[in-house]
Amino acid sequence: MSFTLRGDDVCQPTPPTPLDDPYWVAFSADAGELIHIERGANGLPSDPQWLEVLAGNELHVGQFTFSNPIATAYSGHQFGSWAGQLGDGRAILLGDINHQELQLKGAGRTHYSRMGDGRAVLRSSIREFLCSEAMHALGIPTSRALSVVGSKQAVRRETMETAAVCSRLAPSFIRVGHLEHFASLQYIDRLQELADLLIAEFYPGCVDKKDPYLELFKEISSRNAKLVAQWQAVGFCHGVLNTDNISALGLTIDYGPFGFLDHFEIDHICNHSDHGGRYAYHRQPQIMHWNMACLASAMLPLLELKHSSEASQELLRSALEEFPEIYAKEWQHAFGLKLGLQSQIDGDTLLIERLLQAMHQSRVDFTSFFRSLSTVSKDSNPEEVSQRNLFIDRDNIDQWFADYLKRLQSEVSSDDSRRELMNQINPKYILRNHLAQAAIEKAQQDDFSEISILQQILSKPFDEQETFEAYSNPPPNDMERISVSCSS
Ligand code: AMP
Ligand code: MG
Repeated sequence: MSFTLRGDDVCQPTPPTPLDDPYWVAFSADAGELIHIERGANGLPSDPQWLEVLAGNELHVGQFTFSNPIATAYSGHQFGSWAGQLGDGRAILLGDINHQELQLKGAGRTHYSRMGDGRAVLRSSIREFLCSEAMHALGIPTSRALSVVGSKQAVRRETMETAAVCSRLAPSFIRVGHLEHFASLQYIDRLQELADLLIAEFYPGCVDKKDPYLELFKEISSRNAKLVAQWQAVGFCHGVLNTDNISALGLTIDYGPFGFLDHFEIDHICNHSDHGGRYAYHRQPQIMHWNMACLASAMLPLLELKHSSEASQELLRSALEEFPEIYAKEWQHAFGLKLGLQSQIDGDTLLIERLLQAMHQSRVDFTSFFRSLSTVSKDSNPEEVSQRNLFIDRDNIDQWFADYLKRLQSEVSSDDSRRELMNQINPKYILRNHLAQAAIEKAQQDDFSEISILQQILSKPFDEQETFEAYSNPPPNDMERISVSCSS
């Protein structure tokens, strides 16, 4: 293993706990290619031993031997408060292949399981699997999902459910919480080793900078700022943006009670346990900024190796101030493209904000509205634009469309070329909660076909897929409020 954390203050040897009579629930051959898993005619790995490995029952397959599976310690801030040590309570890192770490989630208890059973249920494993692969197809940085392996083994949550193991891949699963871990213990040498590892493996551009650790902070912060802007642009709510769930590589990780917006509600809360709405849609950028402030505190001792305490604080404070600027620029760029604008001019931000306000007021479906916007011709009469009918306040939306059409006329692009570009930006298909729920309910009856269908559709989110038109529709009214709990 080349990238992984080492040392018994941060990792513990942890063999997976065997899973009874495992079977395939889902497999991503596309993710499998990343680690050269050969695919058989049925779409599953041609070597059946992979099932045993991904269930946590074996450590050898073909040329690979995972001789040193580990669980790692991290700490973190949860819901705004310091939570102390957490760690991989149910994730076991098998090893790395071809620059990808392979992790089994739900493979049994670890040194860091605390009160937990180390398991994951089928429902949450399917959600993580589908969403990881869907996010990847949307072009959003994310850990990948390789498989879900099921079993009839019982797991107790609010009710009795069955266990599953979701295997996932990422160049590294190092989190902000890993840096906070060493900082909180004042293991400054170890903190430095970790920062050096991150620089050497993932941020090589920092090495030659005057202040490599300051640069590393800026890079991590910038990647996460851009990541949130991408989330906002597809209406993705992560649900649990605690610092232990924030990747040091700027990837979306730890899919739990996440949700994509159906109708637009700016303060939508997808996590049923988030009573205060800390992680609501509109708060994600601000919360990520707050998380980066935690990262800055954790990295302070590294700057103090070279500068006075005051100077170090000042350097990090001003680096942290770059976050809102990077985010705002990225957000405006992303939403400008959603509107089909190739250039950026003053007033665009206001145009976007006015639209979002109107969408919020009328609870307009986020994904299908943006998708449909490519059909608007810049020469139309605002009052003839069919999308106006989705809004309650017609005068307001007519004025908005009048301004939008004027703005489109100021661009050089033709309707056709704009339509083509917009359809590569505004997905037609996203993992709506009700779709995931339908696939889960079938899977709970041992029918995994719906998972494969969703996998297929969501791997091409920008394509028109006529056979699957219905999968682009907003949820039926009674399916709209599926709440997702943290207990997974
Ligand atoms: P999460 O909210 O999934 O990011 O989890 C927060 C912390 O709780 C992490 O340290 C997890 O490893 C741990 N955890 C969550 N579920 C379990 C479980 N079933 N068994 C052991 N640890 C768990
Ligand atoms: Mg987590």
